[in-house]
Amino acid sequence: MNNKEYWNKKIETMKRADLEDLQLARLKRTISTALDTRYYGGLYAEKGLNVDSIESLDDIRKFPFTVKQDLRDSYPDGMTSPKKRESIRMHCSSGTTGQPTVVFHNQHDLDAWADLVARSLFCAGARPGDVFQNICGYGLFTGGLGFQYGGETLGALTIPAGAGNTKRQIKLIQDFGTTVMHAIPSYLIRLYDVFEQEGVDPVKDTNLRMFVIGAEPHTEAQRKKIENLFGVKAYNSYGLTEMNGPGVAFECEEQSGLHIWEDSYLVEIINPETLEPVEEGEIGELVLTTLNREVMPLVRYRTRDLTRFIPGECSCGRTHRRLDRITGRSDDMFIIKGCNVFPMQIESVLMKKKEVGTNYLIELVTENDVDEMYVKVELRSEYFSDSYHDLEKLKESLVHQIRDEVLAKPKVLLLPPGELPQQEGKAVRVVDYREAQR
Ligand code: AMP
Ligand code: ZN
Repeated sequence: MNNKEYWNKKIETMKRADLEDLQLARLKRTISTALDTRYYGGLYAEKGLNVDSIESLDDIRKFPFTVKQDLRDSYPDGMTSPKKRESIRMHCSSGTTGQPTVVFHNQHDLDAWADLVARSLFCAGARPGDVFQNICGYGLFTGGLGFQYGGETLGALTIPAGAGNTKRQIKLIQDFGTTVMHAIPSYLIRLYDVFEQEGVDPVKDTNLRMFVIGAEPHTEAQRKKIENLFGVKAYNSYGLTEMNGPGVAFECEEQSGLHIWEDSYLVEIINPETLEPVEEGEIGELVLTTLNREVMPLVRYRTRDLTRFIPGECSCGRTHRRLDRITGRSDDMFIIKGCNVFPMQIESVLMKKKEVGTNYLIELVTENDVDEMYVKVELRSEYFSDSYHDLEKLKESLVHQIRDEVLAKPKVLLLPPGELPQQEGKAVRVVDYREAQR
């Protein structure tokens, strides 16, 4: 173990003015690389934009946004620079519909990414010498190899455990003394159920001391639930394939927002309707520009993720600004009975109930020409056997609390554990049957 406080003190605690100088120099380099790509080269020539268009960081606003469809239209490599020839790795985003989006990396890009993930893990409290079990899919998905190389760069024994096979995960945790674990939040409750079935106490029978959770939206209530079940701290990890994958923004030990690594990403938060910047501290869509990527620069990429800057400085001493947890995506809002609803609003109600497990599903259906929202909720096994009266009371209270939160009245169904479909990867929270039923 070493006693240093930061992975890279110089970068992580840089004065804002110096950080912005670094960003400006790197932004110019990014635009220059982008001009070499087929996609941006053509687009910027049309608009008369070039490196000289950038004199200050605000000049980024002269440049058009990039959206996921642009990556799909440029499939497979229209957004790569001539450095593509040096590419040694590619990843795809987990999108399930249409053309995947592909990102290529050369050795520089991979080294920079691994260093960011190591910095992120360190920032949350992992240290060289930790045993880091990475429970997620290896392959095109970035969470596998991204955390693998990051954990190794940190100096942790990094176990490429992969997804699923829960009993074997527990065996690995016990046999190798896992101290730090990465998993998606929806998987962790399932894992806990198997701990219980196997009679393994996470506090007494393992060395687990921290989790890194991310890759899908989750509420503070869900984090608390995970922390209470396991008796282990859980830190929020945010990333997306288009920006490498994990290692874009991460919570520090204060657990008060995610530091976004501003030496590597230029951050904007915009109103998704007007496309103008929101006021400092207001929620909007996160827009990112890569500042340290050679093969595939992306300029003003609209992530669709909704968040806000947390005002003020963090007591950990890092100067990179903090994002609030992602509250959802600007494209996962649905409208029911005239009310705009984000799935996370419903989750925040569900997760405050001790009886509720973590698997739930929102189904939108049309019954007799009326749209209905069903909220199907798995309970924890010890509560499902409760009396009919208690279950009815719980159901009623969920109906009221969800209605208070989203204004539309749901129909709530309480289910025993294991009834709802389980995903290997990210959880699917909403299924909309309405179009098909019309
Ligand atoms: P992918 O590129 O397939 O890894 O998916 C990236 C997307 O996953 C992001 O744009 C977010 O919508 C979501 N995501 C990743 N990490 C988090 C997190 N910590 N909280 C909420 N959503 C997340
Ligand atoms: Zn901090």
